[in-house]
Amino acid sequence: MNFICIDFINSAWYSSHREYGEALANPEWVASFTEKWMMETIDMPDSKELAELIRLRELLADALASVKADGKLSTEVIVTLNHYLFSGIYSRRIVNTEDGYMLEKVPVNQGWAWVKSEIAESFIDLISNHEIERIRYCENPQCGWIFYDKTKNRSGRWCDDSCRNLMKVRRFRERKRKDKLADTEI
Ligand SMILES: [Zn+2]
Repeated sequence: MNFICIDFINSAWYSSHREYGEALANPEWVASFTEKWMMETIDMPDSKELAELIRLRELLADALASVKADGKLSTEVIVTLNHYLFSGIYSRRIVNTEDGYMLEKVPVNQGWAWVKSEIAESFIDLISNHEIERIRYCENPQCGWIFYDKTKNRSGRWCDDSCRNLMKVRRFRERKRKDKLADTEI
């Protein structure tokens, strides 16, 4: 299950990994993000927009942690979400698709205001229509990537196979080290 708000919050992962840098200032990352979410090509954010996006990302990351902790959002978060929802203005049109006629929402302005309103809407959808316990942080301490755990028994602990394998190797080594220590203590 994919959420644009989680992809957006996860963009912080790149700035915490030195080899990548700030994803929101990286044209390749921005292009793949907008393509994934079927948005029109968007100009790179200027410095003011970039600062605002980073602030929104930090706010949502904190808000997600607080919803997971006690199910609550601060007034600041609610005011910010409403602000961004308000700025995403849509018109509507009828489109003919393979499945028949459908109503399509068309953003009036396709810039970052629209992206931010989509992120705000997705965040509210995530915390109101989905299971909060399934929102997980990768347990690799060097990772912390956020994902929605789709496993049947809610056992997902890592964001992908590389983190899973890495942690398996680490646990194996840790066990070996402890065994060795135990041996020397005898
Ligand atoms: Zn991970």
